[in-house]
Amino acid sequence: MTAPTKATRQDMYERDLDRCAACGRTDRLTHQHRRAVGMGGSKTPPSITDSLTLCFECNWRAEHDLQTFALIYGWKVRRWVQDPSAVPVFYAHSIGWARLTDGGAALPIHADEAAEMMREVYGEEWDEWREQVGAVAPVRR
Ligand SMILES: [Zn+2]
Repeated sequence: MTAPTKATRQDMYERDLDRCAACGRTDRLTHQHRRAVGMGGSKTPPSITDSLTLCFECNWRAEHDLQTFALIYGWKVRRWVQDPSAVPVFYAHSIGWARLTDGGAALPIHADEAAEMMREVYGEEWDEWREQVGAVAPVRR
């Protein structure tokens, strides 16, 4: 897997207000590659919309016990999604739902708009994930 460029990493931390998008902590932050890459990896470094600030713990949990929440809240994006900016992100401890732009911004959007974007990408599956786990994320703070 190709690492993000230094510039992308810096822009990402700035956009995400130097906080983990999931739990809100401000230390031990890592680069989360939103779109999972396969065994062969990817030759191009992740774009800014493919990048999200998560702490080391949430980054690990997003691949394990919080996998479904990570999909529901856009912290992770299904591999087949061509454009990660089509999937909004829920910043649990700062601005709430936001749409990521190629210019490096996180634009706050209403929850209804976020749900619309999610259903456009995932269809009914998004609602099924939410039913599976309940609506609220099990995150700290
Ligand atoms: Zn975290």
